[in-house]
This record gives sequence, C-alpha cells and structure tokens, in this order.
Amino acid sequence: MQPDTDIISAIERYLWRTGYSRLSPRAALIDMDGTLIDSMKWHTRAWHRMMTELGVECSPDEFYLYEGMTGAATIDLLIRRAFGRPATEKEKTELYELKTGYFNEYPRVATVAGARRMVDILMAHGITRVLVTGSGQPSNIARLDNDFPGGFPHELRITSHSVSHGKPHPEPYLKGMELAGAKPWECIAIENAPLGVESASRAGAFTVAVTTGPIPEEAMWEKGADMVFPSMEAFADLLPELLDKPT
Ligand code: CA
Repeated sequence: MQPDTDIISAIERYLWRTGYSRLSPRAALIDMDGTLIDSMKWHTRAWHRMMTELGVECSPDEFYLYEGMTGAATIDLLIRRAFGRPATEKEKTELYELKTGYFNEYPRVATVAGARRMVDILMAHGITRVLVTGSGQPSNIARLDNDFPGGFPHELRITSHSVSHGKPHPEPYLKGMELAGAKPWECIAIENAPLGVESASRAGAFTVAVTTGPIPEEAMWEKGADMVFPSMEAFADLLPELLDKPT
C-alpha cells in the first residue's frame, strides 16, 4: 500500500474522531525504541533469552506485540500466562535487570534511518520535542544526547519511571502533553508500535505511525493511527508540509 500522503484528509479524519476544531502542531511526542533507535531486534532477542531461561515458553516475535508496555507489565503478562500467578515486585525488578543486561551485551544499535532528519526538521520549525518511552533502560535513554544533539531536553522525557500506567494506557502521552504545556490538538505523536499508537491516539494527539518492524500497517490503523508511513524517511519527507499546513 502507498503511504497516505493526503494530509488534508488525514487532518479531517483526526478532527472528526476527536471532535477538536483544529490541529495546530507545536509539540512532538516521540517514542524511542523502533522510532528513534533501531533496537527492537535486540530487545525481542533479550526478552526471549531471559524468559526461555526462566522456563517460559515464548517466541521472539511475540515481543513485538508488547512493544511500548513497561518491562514490569511485560514480565507480569508472561509470568501469569506461564505460571498462573502475578509476578512479584522482586521478579519485575530482577528479571528486567537481567533482560537489560542481555540487551547491553548485543552490538550497539544504529538510529532509525531518517530519524535524525525528522528531529532536525522539528527543531528547525520550533516544535517542542518530548520523549515518550515505555523504556527504563538508562543506556538507551542516555545515548539520545549523542545521537540527536539538542533534540531531547532532559526535562522533557517521559520514561517507565514517570507513569503508573504504561502504553497502551493514554497516561504516558497525556503526561508528555503536560510537560510540553500543549493541548492534544497541538501535539503530533510519532510511534512505531500498535500499543504506542493506541496510547497516543487515546490521549488525543495527531498520531503518526511509522512501520519500522514486522508489524503490518493495518495494526496501526486499527489502534487509531491518523497517518501511517512505511519508513521514517517517508515521514520526514512529508513532515515540513504537515507542520506548515494550518487548519
Ligand atoms: Ca517503540
């Protein structure tokens, strides 16, 4: 399928679904893993390795479906499925540390192609950038300063530590809006995972999904995406037009 490049009709659909009267972007709420850094392959591998060692039957690819959830929520989900009981707080902490350790053994991941250009365009247009990640991995969050110089101010970051409900709950994106001091119709959310799209869409942001992994674009539309792009490069190409389009 071709990317939906019809900005006007995407905005019309957004106004219809939200009931807002306009879209006036001044903040961008941006997911990290799979959106800014090309880390999902190693995350799924680290999750699969840790859970398999624990005796939990699972497939590496199923972890793409949990992308956006906090580590604690993912651990709880799998423990409940395998052992029929909730995960303890100790397990949530220790197993997430184990998984993070495995991730850090793998090669350093690259940024997603086009992500740097996307962030540069936002900066050039004076759009406030807020990081909205379900991650709590310090190594990935810290590298943003190198990979996107000036792109993500430290005071404008929502991580797993900032919220009581992770994606797909709208809380992470609602808190991101609060940090930006922006209303939902002033926010563009940029996501790569269905649960993240659901969170952003429910929070009322104009939600852009970029398919950077194996998840089909239909899953993004189903969760409430307002536009879907086949790559970050394709989104970056269209972004200036989206930002210049007043409604
Ligand atoms: Ca993601």
